Amino acid sequence: MSPEAPPRKDLTAVKGTHDIRPGEVELWQKVESAARGLFELYGYRELRAPVIEPTELFEKGTGETTDIVTKEMYTFVDKGGRSITLRPEYTPSVVRAIIEHRLDLKPEPLRFYYFGPMFRYDKPQKGRYRQFHQIDIEVFNEKDPAIDAEIIEMASALLAGLGVGDAETLVNSVGCRACRPGYSAALRNHAEGIRDELCADCRRKIETNPLRIFDCKVESCRVETARFPKITDSLCEECRTHFAQVRTLLDLYGLPYRVDPSLVRGLDYYTKTTFEIVSRGLGAQSALLGGGRYDDMMRDFGGPDICGIGFAMGLERLISVLDITPEPRRLLYFAWLGESGRTKAVEFARFFRRGGVASLVEFNQKNLRSQFARANKLAASWVCVVGEDEIARGRFQLKDMAAGTQIEGTPEELLDLIRRKPADPA
Ligand code: AMP
Repeated sequence: MSPEAPPRKDLTAVKGTHDIRPGEVELWQKVESAARGLFELYGYRELRAPVIEPTELFEKGTGETTDIVTKEMYTFVDKGGRSITLRPEYTPSVVRAIIEHRLDLKPEPLRFYYFGPMFRYDKPQKGRYRQFHQIDIEVFNEKDPAIDAEIIEMASALLAGLGVGDAETLVNSVGCRACRPGYSAALRNHAEGIRDELCADCRRKIETNPLRIFDCKVESCRVETARFPKITDSLCEECRTHFAQVRTLLDLYGLPYRVDPSLVRGLDYYTKTTFEIVSRGLGAQSALLGGGRYDDMMRDFGGPDICGIGFAMGLERLISVLDITPEPRRLLYFAWLGESGRTKAVEFARFFRRGGVASLVEFNQKNLRSQFARANKLAASWVCVVGEDEIARGRFQLKDMAAGTQIEGTPEELLDLIRRKPADPA
């Protein structure tokens, strides 16, 4: 295949999916390790659930009237005749895992985090993909509004730590099973009055679940939802107090936020607090992360009566707003000469790798010159020449590629030297 030849059309990545290649993956690793470190500081532990789940899990959990379940799931029947879905979100999987393994009976706090791919069949655009990746955290058995505020603070700390400066926090309360039906009825009434202004999908939602009209992406519907009755005016006493306390605690943390009564989020299970952190730098798909409380899901799944709350952050969106240059790679390139040089280079590379130095020997090179050219191209930090003479003397030349200097020593001395040298400036 010539360098200009385009790839075969039938063998390219599926629409809405993408490869994360070397050169960009370093940023992903950096974000994942920052998130992991932070979550562990807050007492969270990793829970890895499968990518495939029974379809019913999302129908029941995410909700039958949500856009995710009605339009966006990757669902197939497996060879055993079972309906399987590539998970579109993570929360129902964690709830399932807790019930299945009775994690609620263990002494550890029910605080979990996870990184991984999610799948939604939506129209791909900037910031919206069919396979995307989320950082997800979930907490269970904590009714206190202090945990709502704490996870918002934790999300803010992660973003601040990664240098995301222009983020805005939006909060709302979507009430509970006591007060939401009254609000839904008021909403249905209002939506009925402006039925003709709504898209066909939203007209259907008037009957099935009027709250879901807020999720519509059609501009004319969005204009209408701005005039809808506000859920914050319909909260019961318990939900109102809870929401007030969340806000007081956010104030205590000194975290600025804006109350957005239209923030119902596209999932059916939320109760009380919902929130999003948005970034202006993202354009139309502005939500970096979203989350909320879901006090009924565990019980609805037939599990213990334990409340839950969590958030999911979109990694593609987060990475697109970061202004971080990953540390340059420090690589030792072995340039070898002759059969004995090749064998010795293999041995040395192993020795240096065990000493914690990334080392590369390439076997497809013709001569010393081509190996130096490769080392330059790969921006290797050092080149070590391994030829007959060097082997006979037991001493080797190490070239510092940035400084252009050369030093001679035994492998032990050279390893020591490399380890003491600070990283090259970026
Ligand atoms: P959700 O699970 O819908 O609450 O979304 C949580 C976060 O995941 C959002 O704030 C986005 O950052 C990200 N996200 C959701 N859907 C997509 C998608 N289709 N493509 C990329 N990121 C997404």
